[in-house]
Amino acid sequence: MTDFARTRSLFHMPDGVFYLDGNSLGPLPKSATRRVQEMMTAQWGEQLIRGWNASGWMMQPRRLGDRIGKLIGAPEGTVVVGDTLSIKVYQALASALELNPSRRVVLSDNGNFPSDLYMAQGLLGSLDKGYELKVVDPEEVEAAIDESVAVLMITEVDYRTGRLHDMKKLTAKAHAAGVLTVWDLAHSAGALVVDLEGAKADFAVGCTYKYLNGGPGAPAFIYVAPEHAGKVRPALSGWLGHESPFAFDLDYRSGAGIDRMRVGTPAVIAMAALDAAMDAWEGVSMADVRKQSIALADLFIHEVEARCPELTLASPRNGAERGSQVSFRHPEGYAIMQALIARGVIGDFRAPDAVRFGFTPLYIGEQEVLGAVGVLEDVMNNRRWDEPQYRKKALVT
Ligand SMILES: *Cc1c(COP(=O)(O)O)cnc(C)c1O
Repeated sequence: MTDFARTRSLFHMPDGVFYLDGNSLGPLPKSATRRVQEMMTAQWGEQLIRGWNASGWMMQPRRLGDRIGKLIGAPEGTVVVGDTLSIKVYQALASALELNPSRRVVLSDNGNFPSDLYMAQGLLGSLDKGYELKVVDPEEVEAAIDESVAVLMITEVDYRTGRLHDMKKLTAKAHAAGVLTVWDLAHSAGALVVDLEGAKADFAVGCTYKYLNGGPGAPAFIYVAPEHAGKVRPALSGWLGHESPFAFDLDYRSGAGIDRMRVGTPAVIAMAALDAAMDAWEGVSMADVRKQSIALADLFIHEVEARCPELTLASPRNGAERGSQVSFRHPEGYAIMQALIARGVIGDFRAPDAVRFGFTPLYIGEQEVLGAVGVLEDVMNNRRWDEPQYRKKALVT
């Protein structure tokens, strides 16, 4: 059984805050401050460029990839860290399309995060080979998988509502129709039991600043199934994906396996923070995390529906069909969230009308859930949101 009292003690939480937004940005692991400081002073400061070898900076993307791999059912040597998630979506999609050259359709759904769709639009435009991005309703995805589709590009958890796709089932259906899959695990890694190998996913990508607590702008990761990793041609053929970067050849030859998905110089300072954050997962069972996050979310839904009748549940009621977040709809959702944040209950707002809350058992328990509902009840039933300052739109919502 996972000791959540222990994991909770590993994170810094400001006083007076109920933090229900770990699905957007995980909190600071206390050890990250020390680790980054040490990296900067003892390594960068003293070792200077020697740190690439002496402190293993160059291997950090692979080492961290293996640590993340353990949480998502990926065997050693199949995951590498670097760049941002949007970049990794581009890489995965480009490689997947080349593995299925006779087809011209990329299938996705309108619950996907816009950046994934934008990256696909950009890539297909550059390829200029008559590709079509077909975007259907989430419920229509399964029926839309047919032999015209080259790649199924899906985010497992809908960022707005938490609605969950069945990775294993959709991947099996895709493979039966000769379709390759790219799974985005942005809201899955560190939140759900993910089994990439068991589901036979072809490619997967994800970020590390949400449930993995790597810090703002922490690098992303990419998984390539072992049967593809030695075959794929990397579209972003940077020198660190080269077979021999320090040979400085003029022609690109891809590195072995997953190494070819590296692009340029890794963000070593950010990776020090991520490495510290990954320590929190030692001794943690993903099944326990999942069970507890469903219990917390169920409690939240039950209490909010009983005490805040104006809010309408936007997420699936059944925990098994939901990721680790819960959204409610209200036409004044933006102002409601601003009023909550002003009172220390931090969630976020997703246009047009959803207030969204994440349930992350590593550092959130019943006490925070009930505390947050108490504040929400006051904000709703006393119309505390109805103030001009809560309607002012900030850059980040
Ligand atoms: C958070 C998120 C992103 C963000 O991509 P970045 O390149 O890290 O900004 C992309 N896709 C999905 C599905 C996300 O949830």
